[in-house]
Amino acid sequence: MRTADTYSNAEFINDCLDVFAKHPGNIAVVPGIGSVVMYEEPLVGFASADDEIFRTFKKKEVVGKNHFLPSEWLPEAKTVISFFLPFTDAVRESNESDPAEPSAEWLYARIEGQQFIGQFMKDIAAMLEEKGIMTCVPALDERFEVKIEPGLEGLKPTFHADSRWSERHAAYACGLGTFGLSRGLISEKGMAGRYASIIVSAELEPTVRPYTGVYDYCIRCGACIRKCPVNAISLKHGKNNLTCHKHVEKMKAKYSPRYGCGKCQVGVPCEHTNPLRRASK
Ligand code: SF4
Ligand code: SF4
Repeated sequence: MRTADTYSNAEFINDCLDVFAKHPGNIAVVPGIGSVVMYEEPLVGFASADDEIFRTFKKKEVVGKNHFLPSEWLPEAKTVISFFLPFTDAVRESNESDPAEPSAEWLYARIEGQQFIGQFMKDIAAMLEEKGIMTCVPALDERFEVKIEPGLEGLKPTFHADSRWSERHAAYACGLGTFGLSRGLISEKGMAGRYASIIVSAELEPTVRPYTGVYDYCIRCGACIRKCPVNAISLKHGKNNLTCHKHVEKMKAKYSPRYGCGKCQVGVPCEHTNPLRRASK
């Protein structure tokens, strides 16, 4: 058995993809539609737990003072590992059928899909712990919380979420991608999907971040502005969290226990690819 001392990035990725491929939870049974595979194989990125970038996430204008360092989650932390799980074609394409209402596939992939990701992360943690590697999955930890701080965007009210751990920022640190105007993180497989992360005591090779700017992959095409049914996005301010949240709450009242929207993530150049690379080809 591989131990913490001999574990490499390639072996880790292989083991995770194996857990992913064999996991029965990646299929949702959607009434009236049938079985839907929710996620494609994940992308994986690595960052040193000591990377100074995590300290910058404590700044108010980034995430906020409540954001934990990797070592605050796990004192033995050596590496942060981030995953991007892209939605499948079936999920993404279904959400283009109506300009405002979320598709059933999207709603299931968003809610049942998140439950699957929680289980996937637990299984990875169990696999690593069998090898003697300590782990912490911040999103599943009882210390995880989000503090909402009201604010202003120009003259419009909005809010800032001061989260104890931001999956998108962890993914940025791990070299998986940069932010877009709609505030999602654009990876090499686009933005439509979900991010997850785990902090581990094993030392793995950090991914070299192929960018320097926070918004490097966003081509500012404005497509997400036109797709948003409630005008929550603008070129000047990005996304207004409050306007978006109110719309998603309306969807929740209609489709409870599921909710979602994601119109800004489908039918746009950053849906399933890095639009900067596509533009430069
Ligand atoms: S749709 Fe265009 S402007 Fe909006 S996040 Fe994607 S690349 Fe950026
Ligand atoms: S999730 Fe929906 S409401 Fe929120 S910004 Fe995107 S398109 Fe607009």
